Amino acid sequence: MSASTLTTQATVDIPDTGLHGPDSEWAEEVRALARKRDAVILAHNYQVPEVQDVADHVGDSLALSRIAASSDASTIVFCGVHFMAETAKILAPEKTVLIPDERAGCSLADSITADQLREWKAEHPGAVVVSYVNTTAAVKAETDICCTSSNAVEVVDSIPREKEVLFLPDQFLGAHVRRELGRENMQVWAGECHVHAGISGTQLTAQAEADPDAELFVHPECGCATSALYLAGTGAVPADRVKILSTGGMLDAARATGAKSVLVATEIGMLHQLRKAAPDVDFRAVNERASCTYMKMITPEALLRSVRDGTDEVHVAPELAERGRAAVQRMIEIGQPGGGGE
Ligand code: SF4
Repeated sequence: MSASTLTTQATVDIPDTGLHGPDSEWAEEVRALARKRDAVILAHNYQVPEVQDVADHVGDSLALSRIAASSDASTIVFCGVHFMAETAKILAPEKTVLIPDERAGCSLADSITADQLREWKAEHPGAVVVSYVNTTAAVKAETDICCTSSNAVEVVDSIPREKEVLFLPDQFLGAHVRRELGRENMQVWAGECHVHAGISGTQLTAQAEADPDAELFVHPECGCATSALYLAGTGAVPADRVKILSTGGMLDAARATGAKSVLVATEIGMLHQLRKAAPDVDFRAVNERASCTYMKMITPEALLRSVRDGTDEVHVAPELAERGRAAVQRMIEIGQPGGGGE
């Protein structure tokens, strides 16, 4: 699909790069250079459409972590944000891991440092630390089990009930898990993603009222997840039309839905894969401005530079990688087959 077609179809603000889809000279050059480098290109669901379309695999953080760990390629080009590329390096330390722009950070991962986590642990001796995958390698090294949004409930449920749990860094995901499990001995760090927190309950409610037949796909990191559950609880929207889903779960639900329209509450890059999965469904963003500037730093130009020049290489200190690996491996083992994570 070309960038211009997308601009017509979508009501979202996808940057016009002047490139024209997977058959362009650019795409051919990227693929040829990747082959020469023995590289596999992985792209997160929030990447710009051109990058998604040229990648070998598109998915959420859990699915991409699994592919990074099992790929035969000697180089992984990770089109996503920095913590994701670090996770790939933790799982595949012998491989070269590249991110097209190392400045692609994450406001959620930045909301807790390893020092802050050590202090928090000291205040709660014996507690089990569960970290959402959106964390730095240094924080993962202080973690017992990582989780994604699709397996967060299962991960916390796997911990004996008498054990205290420290859940970080996302307060909305933490609130979702606590509500699902009714678990009182669970402390939740007050971090948030600025993009998801900016999708408000007021916006969701107004749109749900304007389109009473629409289904709602809501990412649990969203500030509106509570509003979505409230709407279902009051009967304003039938409960079976409110779905709290990881990005991987949204794709499965898109293929299965019988609805004509779906309101989507997550980063707007997700709309590209949803529209590809179910072209007859009208997918609309709850907040058309919910675009992650970090994800969008991975431009087509940056990807070309990366496969051509081998930039930017991601390094994780071996002792940190070793300590983080067990926590990440547990996350992968507990994941649902449909994928998950952001
Ligand atoms: S959308 Fe939010 S959580 Fe995801 S990478 Fe961007 S800042 Fe981080």
